[in-house]
Amino acid sequence: MIPHSRPTIDQADIDSVTERMRAGQLAQGEVVAEFERKMAGFIGVRCAVATNSGTSALHLALLALGVAQGDEVIVPSYVCTSLLHAARYVGADPVLADIALDDFNMNVDDVRQRITGRTKCVIVPHMFGCPADIAAFRALGLPVIEDCAMSVGAEVRGHKVGTFGDMAVLSFYATKMMTTAQGGMLLGDSTDMIEDARDLCYYDGRGASRAHYNYRMTDVAAALGLSQLARLPAFIERRRAIAGRYRSALSRTPLIAPPDKPGHVYYRFVARLSEGLDDALEAMAASGVCCERPVEPPLHRLLSQTGFPSSDTAFGHALSIPIFPSLSDSEVKRVVDALERNFGRGRQ
Ligand SMILES: *Cc1c(COP(=O)(O)O)cnc(C)c1O
Repeated sequence: MIPHSRPTIDQADIDSVTERMRAGQLAQGEVVAEFERKMAGFIGVRCAVATNSGTSALHLALLALGVAQGDEVIVPSYVCTSLLHAARYVGADPVLADIALDDFNMNVDDVRQRITGRTKCVIVPHMFGCPADIAAFRALGLPVIEDCAMSVGAEVRGHKVGTFGDMAVLSFYATKMMTTAQGGMLLGDSTDMIEDARDLCYYDGRGASRAHYNYRMTDVAAALGLSQLARLPAFIERRRAIAGRYRSALSRTPLIAPPDKPGHVYYRFVARLSEGLDDALEAMAASGVCCERPVEPPLHRLLSQTGFPSSDTAFGHALSIPIFPSLSDSEVKRVVDALERNFGRGRQ
């Protein structure tokens, strides 16, 4: 069975981690500082603070923006629950917005309808690695947190995503664009906000005037991050090559391929079906390919809210097809064959 997703680890990663373990410096030290510098340089922002997850980086971003009890934070419905929990950590009310079906990114017109006097900021994910129209979100006049957890390395007109918002959050979970096993980072150009987040990130020697957290990344994790970052451009190239194969296979089926945007990094390859998903998931599994619903379920369903028609449509019809750098050519061919067999126009 071809898995839906799998980490991409090579000997350089293993060597990088074992070197740190042999050196005996396990917790936070110089390697984290180097990883922060290199990551900030790669994205193209001034400052960065590494964390133990993308969710903790989101929490720190909200704290650094001063979001608190009674404030509202706008997030898409069609996304993982991490955003919902981060808003709750600071006592804010998550306000959900619908998406646009063509690229699964948040619909800026719907966001505008949901702004109130209590809205403090908007969290904009670049869904599945496809850059959102961040300029349109900026034009709302609210602070923007770019959620680049699925889109490290994605670009808009030569600029990396993560450079457009007030702050950006990355995730290095095992199967994200690049990994530190688990980890995250908060980046931005505002030294004040990022240094405030760095202060909040650890408790020792930092006084007791406010709550501090233990959100730091370890040197062992950062060592893995550094060797993964060195290969990120190759990872992205491989993902784009696989996406090209899938796109041409889908052109011989009724399935709708994801948008062919130049800066897309294909964290997920999400196709849309006109029929229901259950049969498609079953048929692909019977052909030895594990596909998934890429979001399960949309947040409005968890919160028993209605009025999110595109998120509902995506939930019912979006099929995530395995795509990751360590997918071999023969595995890609098996996926293509399975797509043609199950959805091809000539199928019986
Ligand atoms: C994975 C993810 C997160 C959370 O990151 P973790 O490292 O798992 O905490 C947040 N937002 C989006 C869009 C994600 O894909």
